[in-house]
Amino acid sequence: PAASLQDIIAHAKEYGFVFPSSEIYDGLQAVYDYGQNGVELKNNLKTLWWKAMTQLHDNVVGIDASIFMHPLTWKASGHVDSFNDPMIDNRDSKKRYRADQLLELKAEEYANAGDEARSSALLQEMGRLLGENDLDGVRNLIIAEGIKDPVSGTDNWTEVRQFNLMFSTQVGSLAEDASLIYLRPETAQGIFVNFLNVQKTGRMKVPFGIAQIGKAFRNEIVARQFTFRMREFEQMEMQFFVRPGTEMSWYEQWRDTRMKFHQAIGLPAEKLKFHIHEKLAHYANAAVDIEYKFPFGFREMEGIHSRTDFDLKAHQELSRKKQQYFDNEVDPATGKPYGNYVPYVVETSVGADRLFLATFCNAFTRETVGEGDEKKERTYLKLHPALAPVKAAVFPLVRKDGLPEKAEQIVKSLRSEFRVIYEERDAIGKRYTRQDLIGTPFCIAVDYQTLEDDTVTIRYRDTTEQIRIPISELKARIGQEVSM
Ligand code: ATP
Repeated sequence: PAASLQDIIAHAKEYGFVFPSSEIYDGLQAVYDYGQNGVELKNNLKTLWWKAMTQLHDNVVGIDASIFMHPLTWKASGHVDSFNDPMIDNRDSKKRYRADQLLELKAEEYANAGDEARSSALLQEMGRLLGENDLDGVRNLIIAEGIKDPVSGTDNWTEVRQFNLMFSTQVGSLAEDASLIYLRPETAQGIFVNFLNVQKTGRMKVPFGIAQIGKAFRNEIVARQFTFRMREFEQMEMQFFVRPGTEMSWYEQWRDTRMKFHQAIGLPAEKLKFHIHEKLAHYANAAVDIEYKFPFGFREMEGIHSRTDFDLKAHQELSRKKQQYFDNEVDPATGKPYGNYVPYVVETSVGADRLFLATFCNAFTRETVGEGDEKKERTYLKLHPALAPVKAAVFPLVRKDGLPEKAEQIVKSLRSEFRVIYEERDAIGKRYTRQDLIGTPFCIAVDYQTLEDDTVTIRYRDTTEQIRIPISELKARIGQEVSM
């Protein structure tokens, strides 16, 4: 049977990948901590993304901007005025819901019952009402559809209100009139406001990109589904600045490049798909999501958006600083340089925590092995070796006769290249199992023969096959497998 989200959450906690935040105080909703293995897996994903962006493209560079930004940033970007979700409360249960999600669930129900027409009609009507900000209309639609609160079972709904998702706090002491600032709800704006700094100091020529990995914060109304929807999360975003008119071909190129990335790190093609947005955000002229098939269905993991010159123009207007680039390349149509313009932007934006969750869900494997009485279940994480928190575990067969010392020597010889651990407790079978559960691709066992001929056995996680090789070959062999 396919693993449920509950299986995934339990495994992530039990083996040191993800813990609920401040768990001893019963946790904090939609906030999670990465444990000793989770942080390694997440760091590996971030490093691969960073390399794929900055190292494999000579025209993409990185930055690391602050979480706090001047408050006008969020005025210009539109977040102060329109980064809202419509919410509705049930008066009996006192539970709060996202009005759009209630309607989407209803539409899903119609679709599951085979009534595609009714499903898409409902979504269309919802889109229209939200587009016109007709909140009473949204409430009426919820009631007309007979949607009841799953907790109280009633349809005693309040009015629908817009709820801004940005967290705010104060800078400065109260005495010297402190001012309101926001925790960034996306990393992209840190890139936009640094566009000219990077372009000038890096002598960058359009087209070029700026990549960033960092925390973002959103006060999500309905925060469930583990690390899929968190209130504090991490984004990996890249804004690619292009000459106006060329954005569609860059958009298509980045869309395909990003899809290939997900497949290269081991997510299977059949669990990935594009979802093209028909209803576009105010800043976009094309948008597509890369969706992954999570245990709760296909959901957005990454967005690729053609954002036009919306952001740079808005910052130019509000800051009164020109956000232009001088393009000295000659336009064949006019025979003159393209000259000054505000570049268009194609963005790729993926959540590190959603990518982590997708990778974790995909790796989680339960198999029945053996026959008859020997039949048992085997659970392991089938992670690409490049992503595994521990690349190799070295075991002495027994804790005597010089085997531990020999094993420790091997650990020392490998640890500058890979994350390698030493394990001597419990029977060797148990040690293999423990490594399977955290996805270690190779286990190296030191036995009596090792003392004679300097060979060890290396066990492959996925096949459990063991082969004997010289110690001198370990580094090259593991190195080959963990590279991407
Ligand atoms: P959703 O519709 O699921 O709320 P979104 O369309 O608002 O997502 P974007 O604003 O495009 O998301 O953000 C880009 C990426 O950041 C998303 O594809 C997702 O991977 C990640 N992301 C956004 N919100 C969250 C969150 N609350 N928790 C974890 N990751 C998130």
